[in-house]
Amino acid sequence: MIALAEASKGQNPSLALHRRADQRPEVDLPRIERAVRDILIAIGEDPDRDGLLDTPKRVAKAYRELFKGLREDPAVHLGRVFEQEHDEAVIVRGIEFYSLCEHHLLPFTGRAHVAYLPGGGQIVGLSKIARTVEVFARRPQVQERLTNQIADAIESHLQARGVAVLIESEHFCMKMRGVNKSGSVMATTALRGEYRTDRQAAAQVLSLMRPAGA
Ligand code: ZN
Repeated sequence: MIALAEASKGQNPSLALHRRADQRPEVDLPRIERAVRDILIAIGEDPDRDGLLDTPKRVAKAYRELFKGLREDPAVHLGRVFEQEHDEAVIVRGIEFYSLCEHHLLPFTGRAHVAYLPGGGQIVGLSKIARTVEVFARRPQVQERLTNQIADAIESHLQARGVAVLIESEHFCMKMRGVNKSGSVMATTALRGEYRTDRQAAAQVLSLMRPAGA
């Protein structure tokens, strides 16, 4: 990933996706404001009527907040490990998250469940796992990539022997438009290390990760 980031300097802007968090320029608020004003005109609204006058400004600020994960590095949170001998799985269930699908920029929201097998006695505070989920959720996303990015970050930064991530979420681009199948939940999993090679261990930990009653 770092090699790609180096290669992308001054080249194809589509490679910006691979830029490291600290290399991104600040959010261009005036540019978002102009674009939102254009969208309002394009849908046949009057951007100068009272209720809409400040909308471009509000949307720009909201986008800065909703996409702030593009400028954050999960290493900041996962770097704060502490030593604790613990060989068994650590499971964090029900981490609430809000993300935006990159196809429609509409929300998908749900819960992430994360389990890892500590390696070398390194564990991390529960809140740091939740912060890691948030760093990746606050980017234009697809659920599959979100699931994989969380698993990869925990595997590499904690040197975990195994990682399992399960995400269950509802997509507003499904609920609000088109087929309108409200209530359907999409589930994705990502397995790393021992959970990838040992299917029995994976099945066991996934059953523990599912919230009670689900
Ligand atoms: Zn979508």
